[in-house]
Amino acid sequence: RMDTHAPAWFDLADRINATLREPIFIGATEQTITTSIGIAVLGNTTDNAADLLKYADLAMYQAKLDGRNKSRFYSVSLQEAVQFRSLIKNDLQRALEKNELKIYYQPQIRSVDGGLRGMEALLRWHHPRLGVLSPAAFLPIAEETGLIVDIGAWVLQEGCRQLKVWRERYAPYLAELILAINLSAVQMKQEKLPRTVKAALAEHGLSAGCLELEITESMLIGVTNTTVSLLSEISAQGVAMSLDDFGTGYSSLDYLKLFPISILKIDKGFVSAVGEGGKSEKLFVAIIAFAKALNMQIVVEGVETQAQAEFCTQQGCDLLQGYFYSKPIPAQEFEAAFLARRPHG
Ligand code: C2E
Ligand code: MG
Ligand code: MG
Repeated sequence: RMDTHAPAWFDLADRINATLREPIFIGATEQTITTSIGIAVLGNTTDNAADLLKYADLAMYQAKLDGRNKSRFYSVSLQEAVQFRSLIKNDLQRALEKNELKIYYQPQIRSVDGGLRGMEALLRWHHPRLGVLSPAAFLPIAEETGLIVDIGAWVLQEGCRQLKVWRERYAPYLAELILAINLSAVQMKQEKLPRTVKAALAEHGLSAGCLELEITESMLIGVTNTTVSLLSEISAQGVAMSLDDFGTGYSSLDYLKLFPISILKIDKGFVSAVGEGGKSEKLFVAIIAFAKALNMQIVVEGVETQAQAEFCTQQGCDLLQGYFYSKPIPAQEFEAAFLARRPHG
């Protein structure tokens, strides 16, 4: 049976790995080989040799995905995961041209007066058979395949188009509406990014001040000078850069010095600890204090309760975002709920 024998198979795989890892000399140069091993056992899920090889191959594919130099055991759930990935990969190629990608909008509320300051654009995929998919289901694949470049450009285009429409339709009350858009690590390595951003703004007659671009700390690890100058170029155009999910990565204060970041988005893990009086809550207060000392604008994401909203307001956070105000919703719904009725003044 697989469960009782699995440790033995992993031991064997480890021994194969260790043996193959021994350095080899080719002339004067030392070479090392790492191996990714897939394990499938006859009698567990199949009695058929051809299937067995296929399963071992699937498991090896997973071992590679998990970072190589590993061994993975075939299981039905692994096969399902692999099949899901390949289905997503296939369908994603055409999702853009078939108009299946949508932008949902989530409001950002000013703490000082409860008014609407703007919204974050959050991508959704209306898959014809699987329903509405969240970014987690397809963004990693979009990044792996490079499709994220086109998708990211589309988000910029469509977001700017929508922003322009709303700004005009609801002027003068909401003429200052701001849109926040998430960037992917892949886009940040693209030399043409500053031009893409500039072109999207120009095409819709928007000034740079109405757009914010969100990046995460993990995207800043090990970046090259090229990326630093790309980001500086964008911020010199007047587009604000925001650091998303702050507090979940390395939280390196160096980044705040090195990169032109003017907005700190504190990760939802912190606000959820409000009221517990524990370390997370104390850290939350400390992060707010240092962001203020650096004159950064503070956005809190993941605000789910009135008590949390009040706490953030007392602490002087500038903007609040979360289910307490609204989930991310389609453009039309957003317009009806937050623009047409102007419930927040
Ligand atoms: P993010 O930028 O940190 O977005 C916030 C996530 O938290 C969103 O998940 C949002 O739906 C969720 N959220 C908002 N309020 C609450 C709350 O009160 N409670 C809880 N538990 N969650 C809340 P979503 O929409 O699934 O997006 C996940 C991530 O995907 C985003 O994280 C962002 O990193 C990425 N993403 C979304 N759209 C795009 C895009 O157009 N381009 C790129 N590159 N990445 C995107
Ligand atoms: Mg974000
Ligand atoms: Mg976030």
